[in-house]
Amino acid sequence: MDFEFTEEQKMLRDMAYRFAQTEFASFVKECDEEEKYIPEIRKKAGENGLVGAWISEEYGGAGAGSIGNVIITEELSKVDLGLALNVTAASFGCEAIYQYGSEEQKKQYLPPVCRGEQVSAGAFTEPNAGTDAAGYKTRAVKDGNDYLINGNKMFITNATVCDFMVAQCITNPEQKKHNSFSLIIVPAHAKGVTTNKIHGKMGIRASNTGEIAFEDVRVPQSNLVGKEGNGFRQLMHFFDTTRIMIGAQALGLSEACLETSIKYVKERTVFGAPLGSFQLTQLKLTEMAVKIEALRGLVYRAAWLLDGKNPDYTLSAMAKYFGGETAVFCANAAVELHGGYGYIDEYPVQKWYRDAKILELYEGTKEAEVMTIGRVLQAG
Ligand SMILES: Cc1cc2nc3c(=O)[nH]c(=O)nc-3n(C[C@H](O)[C@H](O)[C@H](O)COP(=O)(O)OP(=O)(O)OC[C@H]3O[C@@H](n4cnc5c(N)ncnc54)[C@H](O)[C@@H]3O)c2cc1C
Repeated sequence: MDFEFTEEQKMLRDMAYRFAQTEFASFVKECDEEEKYIPEIRKKAGENGLVGAWISEEYGGAGAGSIGNVIITEELSKVDLGLALNVTAASFGCEAIYQYGSEEQKKQYLPPVCRGEQVSAGAFTEPNAGTDAAGYKTRAVKDGNDYLINGNKMFITNATVCDFMVAQCITNPEQKKHNSFSLIIVPAHAKGVTTNKIHGKMGIRASNTGEIAFEDVRVPQSNLVGKEGNGFRQLMHFFDTTRIMIGAQALGLSEACLETSIKYVKERTVFGAPLGSFQLTQLKLTEMAVKIEALRGLVYRAAWLLDGKNPDYTLSAMAKYFGGETAVFCANAAVELHGGYGYIDEYPVQKWYRDAKILELYEGTKEAEVMTIGRVLQAG
C-alpha cells in the first residue's frame, strides 16, 4: 500500500491549483453576483489538459484516470466550487459515452470536450422525479431510423451552454420500469430542443443550470448509448463513478474553509488573546481537520479502486455522503469562527457556506446515498 502521490500526480496537483488561482481569482465575485458562466475559463482549462482528464489519451483526454480527476477536482474546488464546475462538469454525461458508447460516438463526442471546445450535459432529472430515477417520463419513440423525443428535464448543469446532452428516455414502455430506459445523445441545437436558464441559486452561481424541453426532437437511432433498455442500470453505474467527484469537490471546499479559518483565528484577538488560543476554537478546527482527513481517505480509496478496475460502489456513495456532510460542517464552522465577519462578503466563507449545500443535494441527495449504503449493509 502506498499513500504517496507519484511525481506526475504532484505536478498535476500543483498545475491545477496554480491554474485555479490564476484563472479564477478575478472572476469569483462577478460570477457569483451576476450568475455568470465564463466559457473562456473552460477553454483555457481544455488547453491545459484539465477538462475530461480522466478520459484516455486515445479519445483526447489526459489519461489521468479517476485519481487524476480527483486531484484536479480537489485543487480547483479549493479556490472556487462554481468555477471549478465550469471545468470539471464540462464533460458531465461523457462518462456514459466513454463507458457504453460505440467507437464512433467516443471519437466524435469526447475529443472536442477534452479540448475545451464543446460542453456536454447529463440530462436525467425531471420536474416531477429526481431521486426516483425510475419515475422519469421523457419518451423516445422509434420513427423510421430515428427516435422522436418528447419530455422535460430539470436542474440540468450546462443546460443552456452545452453542445450535446446524454438524456435518459423511456424507449421500451412495455418492459418493467428498470428495463424501459435508454440513454440517448441529443445535440443541443436539434430542432425542438429548448433550454431555459434557472436563476436565483443559493450557491455555485458561476455554474450554469437550466431546464430543457424536448418537443418532437428527432435524433438518429445511432445516438443510442449502449443497448436499448439498459439506461437505468447504466445511469446507476454512472453515478457510482461520478459520486466520487462530489466527494473531491467537498474535500477541496472543506480544505479551503479550514485553511482560511486557521489564518483568521491567528490574527483575530478576543479577550486579549488570539482566538486560536482558546480550546473551543481548537475543537472546531480539530473537528474540521479530522473530518477532512477521513474524507480524503474515502475519496482517494474509492478512486484508487475504480482505477484498479475493482470499484466499490458503496464506498463511492460513502464518499459522496460524507463529503456533503463534511463540506457543510466545515463551511458552517468557518462562518462561526469568523463571527460577524463570516456573514459578510469581506471574507469568502459566506460564499463557501452557500456553495457547500449543493454537495448534499445533487447527484443523489444524502438520503439517496443512505438508501444505497443501507441496502448494501442489509444485504450483508
Ligand atoms: C444546482 C443543481 C445542479 C444539478 N445538476 C444536475 C444535472 O446536471 N443533471 C441532472 O440530471 N440533475 C441535476 N440536478 C438535479 C439533482 O440531482 C436533483 O435535484 C436531486 O437528485 C434531487 O431530486 P429532486 O430535486 O427531484 O428532489 P426529490 O427527489 O423530490 O426529493 C425531495 C426530498 O425528498 C427526499 N426523498 C426522496 N425520496 C425519498 C425516500 N424514498 N425516503 C426518504 N426521503 C426521500 C430527498 O432526499 C429530498 O430530501 C441538479 C440540481 C441542482 C440543484
